[in-house]
Amino acid sequence: DGKAAAGGVMNRVKVTVRLRPLSVKGESADNANCVQYDVNQKLLWVVPKDVTDKKNRRQFDFDGLVGPDSTQEDAFKAVLPTIEAVFDGVNGCVMCYGQTGSGKTYTLSMLSPNKPEGEGVMPRAFKHIFQHIAADNGTHEWKLSVQYVQIYMEHLLDLLNPNNEPALREESGTGVVYLQNAESVPVVSADDCLAAMVRGMSNRATSKTLMNAESSRSHAMYMLTVVRSGGPSCVVSTSSLFLVDLAGSERVKKSGVENTGMDEAISINVSLTALGRCIYAMADKRGKIKPPFRESKLTRLLQTALSGGGRTSLIVCCAQGDSDVQETNSSLEFAQQAM
Ligand code: ADP
Ligand code: MG
Repeated sequence: DGKAAAGGVMNRVKVTVRLRPLSVKGESADNANCVQYDVNQKLLWVVPKDVTDKKNRRQFDFDGLVGPDSTQEDAFKAVLPTIEAVFDGVNGCVMCYGQTGSGKTYTLSMLSPNKPEGEGVMPRAFKHIFQHIAADNGTHEWKLSVQYVQIYMEHLLDLLNPNNEPALREESGTGVVYLQNAESVPVVSADDCLAAMVRGMSNRATSKTLMNAESSRSHAMYMLTVVRSGGPSCVVSTSSLFLVDLAGSERVKKSGVENTGMDEAISINVSLTALGRCIYAMADKRGKIKPPFRESKLTRLLQTALSGGGRTSLIVCCAQGDSDVQETNSSLEFAQQAM
């Protein structure tokens, strides 16, 4: 049910940048790169077209850098420690951030039935978790379940059952936030996890209730809850892994946007701005800044993973075309707040 201890030790968010290859959007070879990088040193530089002096390029330094020639496995490896948190009874959260078209869904949810090397983080995580459970050889009892919701303009929608009206509830006393009225599907295999993901994604695209929420403007949050019991210690541990495909981070241009569009842009910003403020506060070594989890539904839901000693990985997806320079720069600035 996604409950876990709130408060406690704060962990900095681990940031990996993934650069999307130039070619996928039909960009021609002469479309200059706005990004230079050194995968070994994990350094990258944003270079606007008009910058000719190398000293004037802007340098960024993150925990990981997955270049355009990298594989899906490279991206998975960067977030594996966060996924493995659930084996230790610790909450984990993997989020993909970036402008629409930068590779968030490709990185997180790509299916590739005939070519497993093409699979994204989620299918790989499901296999990895159930391999771990198989290797446990019945030492512990494992109970897993899945919830899959969408946040659109600060409204929650249940991707597994669009008729539900999910809501956030707070446990009195502890203040722990949990999801109410969202379908919770028991899963006993990686295939079950995948089936729930596919069902949710197709509901996201086709359901009448969900359709007016364009997917690039909403956050999709897959929650895998793992309850481990029995074993030598007989301790019951519950932890959740949050896998989040965030809304496109691009700024909606003021001109030519209808009222709904502006409302939409504003409330998407509420969640992403709150997330930025939370990761900034979590990075504060003195621990003096309180992360403003309550400022948005997204951060309230993620609070159990972001605090309480949870582990969080942010994959910042960036396009490299010259026309992307502004969005790429602002995505990297967002990520910089975690460092
Ligand atoms: P987003 O979810 O951020 O809007 P997508 O994941 O849908 O972006 O990616 C946009 C397009 O680029 C898709 O056609 C996708 O298959 C392709 N793409 C993204 N990242 C990569 C990559 N690393 N390698 C090859 N193709 C990619
Ligand atoms: Mg997408």
